[in-house]
Amino acid sequence: MREIQQLYIDGAFVEPHGTETVEMINPATEEVIGRARLGDAEDTRRAIAAAKRAFPVFSRTGKEERLGMLRRLQEAVLARADDLREATLAEYGGPYARASWTARYAASAFQDAAETLAGYALSRSVGASTVVMDPVGVAALITPWNSSAGSLCSKLAMAVAAGCTCVIKPSEMSALQTQIVTEALHAAGLPEGVFNVVAGRGEEVGGALSESPDVAKISFTGSTATGKAILRAAAGTLKRVSLALGGKSPTILLEDADLAEAVPFSLQAAFQNNGQACIAGSRLLVPRARLAEVLARVREGVAAMKVGDPRDPATTLGPLASAAQVARVQRYIRLGLEEGATLVTGGEGRPEGLTRGYFVRPTVFADVRSEMAIAREEVFGPVLAILTYEGEEEAIQLANDSDFGLQAYVFSASVPRARAVAMRLQAGRVLVNGLHHDPLAPFGGFKQSGIGREFGVLGLESFLEPKAILGPGA
Ligand code: NAD
Repeated sequence: MREIQQLYIDGAFVEPHGTETVEMINPATEEVIGRARLGDAEDTRRAIAAAKRAFPVFSRTGKEERLGMLRRLQEAVLARADDLREATLAEYGGPYARASWTARYAASAFQDAAETLAGYALSRSVGASTVVMDPVGVAALITPWNSSAGSLCSKLAMAVAAGCTCVIKPSEMSALQTQIVTEALHAAGLPEGVFNVVAGRGEEVGGALSESPDVAKISFTGSTATGKAILRAAAGTLKRVSLALGGKSPTILLEDADLAEAVPFSLQAAFQNNGQACIAGSRLLVPRARLAEVLARVREGVAAMKVGDPRDPATTLGPLASAAQVARVQRYIRLGLEEGATLVTGGEGRPEGLTRGYFVRPTVFADVRSEMAIAREEVFGPVLAILTYEGEEEAIQLANDSDFGLQAYVFSASVPRARAVAMRLQAGRVLVNGLHHDPLAPFGGFKQSGIGREFGVLGLESFLEPKAILGPGA
């Protein structure tokens, strides 16, 4: 049993004012593996005050000094990568390859931010003026339970690169990962108050951050509903708000796509992180003439998936993160059936042979229409909706027929053709013929998938405020 009893404020692990505790449950076994104490609004005020005190000095540190800090942070998190992977598996359910990737990605976020900062001009001449990019102020970094450590580190990395001090509000479901990351960050020896970590309930701690006049910027990753609540709460103080929200990403198989390659990629896109990914390719758009072939390959691909123990590197699909997630996903599977979609594989109930744990069956629906809930809403589980189209125009229209616009995937035998389609999609990122990752490319959403971009130059600029100095000496 792990007992996490402290928050991290002003450079030290401290006793919280808050008294609530939450249980950590291993989703693969449903066993209670620990307890964590949560902070409250009073803890949040202490953390904001610490960040505010640290800001005047930290905001004036030079580029080289910040680059040095980012290097130390990267090394410190990398040194705990194995612990982080184990914590992710225990608390979140993996699967193994994803948990290992998340741990390494968390560390590399500091390197990516350093590379971005190194090549960025914090001061430049524009017209007859000098434009300097000032750190925006105290930043609140609010993160979700999926990809928790990765999200936390990539936000912190950019905030530090920009010269902002921060209060991190991780998900109350990620206590174990947060503890390890916080210990690692502490070991990197940043000045007191530069970063503070207050675990707690969204409405209380997140709400206090969103409303505080001493917080200048919110960088939020989570659901669209919470993003809207934050935007409303932050309006009173006109905070800068970046929102990385949900998605309903389409995968378009163009008529000439090599299905032997494209279908396995599509399944990977849909079921990555057990389907609990903002970028999950949860809508598969298929040319009507090739539906039978796609369905055969989908059945084959899903049958080959190994659902079970997330610690086993051969496992492709682990458990969902919580009982609430299972209930949510099962509800969408029932909705799909009620709305008249055809079940291709999977469905309600547990995968065979798994009597414990938050497991659901990888599920695929065909005959899905764009107005159905499973085509419009974020399921956040291993549920794939297949829609058919006639001609490229309809494929593009269906892909864009969504309130979301985070990511899209396009497969074609012709790269120019795939890229031409990509140009017409309303999505923050479009992946052509594969599952690519580029930590320096901007990441964020069109429409209700968010506001602003993370990563690379735009990610750095989201923590900066331009100031033009006019007159002599420019
Ligand atoms: P969530 O919105 O429930 O919670 C996210 C964070 O916000 C948590 O720390 C939570 O405690 C906090 N929160 C809740 N209510 C709040 C409030 N009123 N004010 C301030 N903070 C509040 O999301 P989740 O269930 O933890 O995460 C899953 C969601 O995150 C999915 O919708 C997923 O698509 C999205 N997500 C998006 C990205 C992206 O980069 N676009 C990445 C990962 C996850």
